[in-house]
Amino acid sequence: MAAQEVNGQARRTRKSRYVYSFGGGKADGNASMNWLLGGKGANLAEMAGLGLPVPPGMTISTEVCTYYYDHGRSYPSELAQQVQKGLARIEKIMRRRFGDADNPLLLSVRSGARVSMPGMMDTVLNLGLNDDTVQGLIKQSGNPRFAYDCYRRFVQMYGDVVLGLKPESKTERDPFEKILEEKKAARGIELDTDLSVDDLRELVVEFKAAIHDRLHIHFPDNPQEQLWGAIGAVFGSWNNPRAITYRKIENIPDAWGTAVTVQAMVFGNLGEDCSTGVAFTRDLSNGENALNGDFLVNAQGEDVVAGIRTPQQITLQASRERAAREGRSDEERAQLYPSLEERMPESFATLQKIAGTLEAHYKDAQDIEFTVQGGHLWMLQTRAGKRTAAAAIKIAVDMVHAGIIDERTAVLRVAPSQLDQLLHPTLDPNAPKERIARGLPASPGAVSGKVVFSAEDAEAAAHGGQKVILVRIETSPDDINGMHAAQGILTARGGASSHAALVSRGMGKCAVVGCEALEVDYERQQFGVRGSSTIIHAGEWITLEGSTGEVFRGQVPTRDPNPDTPEFKEFMGWADRFRRLRVRANADTPHDARVARAFGAEGIGLCRTEHMFFEGDRIDAVREMILADDTTGRVRALEKILPMQKADFLGILRAMAGLPVTIRLLDPPLHEFLPHTEEEIQDLATKLGVSADRLRAKRNVLHEANPMLGHRGCRLGVTFPEIYEVQARAIMEAACELANEGVQVIPEIMVPLVGFKRELEILRERIVHVCQEVIRRKGTAVAFTVGTMIEVPRAAIAADTIAQAAEFFSFGTNDLTQMTLGVSRDDAGKFLPEYLNQGIFPQDPFVSLDQNGVGQLIDLAVHKGRAARVDLKIGICGEHGGDPASVDFCHRTGLDYVSCSPYRVPIARLAAAHAALKEAQSVKKSRPRRRQQAEDTVAAASA
Ligand code: PEP
Ligand code: MG
Repeated sequence: MAAQEVNGQARRTRKSRYVYSFGGGKADGNASMNWLLGGKGANLAEMAGLGLPVPPGMTISTEVCTYYYDHGRSYPSELAQQVQKGLARIEKIMRRRFGDADNPLLLSVRSGARVSMPGMMDTVLNLGLNDDTVQGLIKQSGNPRFAYDCYRRFVQMYGDVVLGLKPESKTERDPFEKILEEKKAARGIELDTDLSVDDLRELVVEFKAAIHDRLHIHFPDNPQEQLWGAIGAVFGSWNNPRAITYRKIENIPDAWGTAVTVQAMVFGNLGEDCSTGVAFTRDLSNGENALNGDFLVNAQGEDVVAGIRTPQQITLQASRERAAREGRSDEERAQLYPSLEERMPESFATLQKIAGTLEAHYKDAQDIEFTVQGGHLWMLQTRAGKRTAAAAIKIAVDMVHAGIIDERTAVLRVAPSQLDQLLHPTLDPNAPKERIARGLPASPGAVSGKVVFSAEDAEAAAHGGQKVILVRIETSPDDINGMHAAQGILTARGGASSHAALVSRGMGKCAVVGCEALEVDYERQQFGVRGSSTIIHAGEWITLEGSTGEVFRGQVPTRDPNPDTPEFKEFMGWADRFRRLRVRANADTPHDARVARAFGAEGIGLCRTEHMFFEGDRIDAVREMILADDTTGRVRALEKILPMQKADFLGILRAMAGLPVTIRLLDPPLHEFLPHTEEEIQDLATKLGVSADRLRAKRNVLHEANPMLGHRGCRLGVTFPEIYEVQARAIMEAACELANEGVQVIPEIMVPLVGFKRELEILRERIVHVCQEVIRRKGTAVAFTVGTMIEVPRAAIAADTIAQAAEFFSFGTNDLTQMTLGVSRDDAGKFLPEYLNQGIFPQDPFVSLDQNGVGQLIDLAVHKGRAARVDLKIGICGEHGGDPASVDFCHRTGLDYVSCSPYRVPIARLAAAHAALKEAQSVKKSRPRRRQQAEDTVAAASA
């Protein structure tokens, strides 16, 4: 082999080999070479090596793609000769010659990246036809209609894909389809299959003429020219807009490139004993162990994909199920759409056998493409089938039970992010939908509701039993009740860790935020979408898809999640066995704590106490506290809040009995709690018996130019000690009372936004004092710890000093990202899409941890913190705690736990297992190298 993969990159060695042949019972490559041959090429080679019926072919490696783009779209000098050699081998096996007028070989030219990018790149079929070779094809097949049908398909496909004759505007029809439709209209026929040989021959001429008219080039008749044109087009399609977008969404590196597979054509459209289809070795929607799929008689591959004809089912059972759904009799069914099992029983039996062989060989469910020509079955592709989360889990668990794979492999088979599908409703993929806008996918799920524009309207409508979507420019803490009442939240502003996003995630509520195209008009009770004529009024239905950020008009049907299957439980049990990281939840209420525990949370990593301040009438007492002129007034108001907070802490600590609960003291700037609108000011003034002027004046006093960096977090505790003291008292009273009942409580009191050791020392002393006083008073010994969030870059840099005053660290990566990047978490939406587009941010840094920047600070803080205090407990509670890539980072950096919203707990559990298993794998792989290095060192030392 001339190329080696080193650190995921291909490195060329002495003599360059660019072309790898397969077929005729042999292959130059195998399935492990997908990085070089692409998934398609590698699996074709593997199948050929297994002796399965694969039409012979050759794969031009991904290295050529890299070369092509690095060298002004040209090829390495050795390539032409290697392709000719590969071609000669195909000709020999097929006993046909490429470009021969008497006995022509036709080729398909297909793309194939390392991972499948379905439909994103180009393909050319029936290559090698011209006015001479079509005569040879007639001779071979004895079927002029077939030959001319292939010819017109080829000119159409090549004209589109290689020569670029496409519609010039969104409204223009495909030029080839237009000619085809005109021809059918002129002949008074509806189906392509009714076109005569003469019609098809004319179409070839007309297609070529259209190419010449529009593009001023002649259609190439020389098969070699056709071949190199197609190879160039496939390499070129790696960088078409579709493929680029797909790579971005799927995080596929641009540098990987595509391979090109050139293969002998086999024909599913050569008559009634021919067919083409796609089969799956298991049901990829529910995981059932049943061969299934579709096929079309007398058709070529693209007919199945194009959806012009409705395909038939492969198995009799599936065909019967379809008939039952459609209310057809069995005779009718057998007449209209008999299964492959009935129509071509021998081919079906072979397919069944091959499907079994492939599944046993790959030890995974396969997605197979096949063609039957004259009763002979050919395999055109096999790959791991893309499956739903439910199917992924069932297949993995079934395969373990059947002894096909081990539990480790099973756990690694399911992508953590896929579990989202199991935990939230999803849109019915088959339902028609009209997308009107797209924002940031802030919190998953799919929901429909009538549009409302205020929290009050949301509450009122929900009271009346209606489903609503709360649409706001942005949300603030006093929208909390409305958010709670709504099915979903849509905002025009804000990023992935904006208020709307994190509150929604905490509630497990679907949210799309930062939908910048939205023009929300509260006055007219409507929103428009910039760049379109869409206007949606209050009361109209919309649907949100929170995993993609899409907004649809109307009510799109959804599918309910069902995570509670025995397979899911068993699977998650395996994942838990492999992981080292603990997984906690961010939960602010007893209800959320219970949900979190049911999802497997091992404690609470962040209880944001400010959210408790907004419930019911509490906000009035909070406002009274803020408005108080002196400590006495504040204490008086705080005394009213204490029993309410205590009640919450009782509920939360009880729900998490036996597990640690980290409670964070008040964090946000006080003005967030004040009334905003004139109406609210008047209302509060009456309630509190103060003048509206006084309220307004107070609001002005509290106003801050930059509240995120202002009077918040521990700065509140330093300046108004009574706030934290009352909170500490509420926590400890709840803890002691539960302990007295025999409930095991493990409270951890957390101070936010610390940057200096002294801040923490001052606050810690007061908190400890209050707690000890409560413990003395209650006569119960409850162990508690006091720690800090690491949210300010200085705290990470000075972690060794801060650790002297902290028993634990919890990385608040929302603020830490905001402050390290200097990017406002609430305003990033304005430029984020462009930053992602231009590759400045590889991912939204508020969703997936910026490992090279923020990550370095975390790493530093972990090392410095542990150096100062060996038993320092360290976790993360920013929104990144539920992101699989960030969880992997936390594992590698040696954190003790991650904490995320209750609904992401299973995702984090699985991600933590993946991190541990991948680490174990890489240690295993690198062990021989390490041993060699150690030996080298010993040798060097003794030399
Ligand atoms: C954080 O900053 O990461 C954090 C968890 O705190 P909050 O989001 O409440 O600011
Ligand atoms: Mg924070």
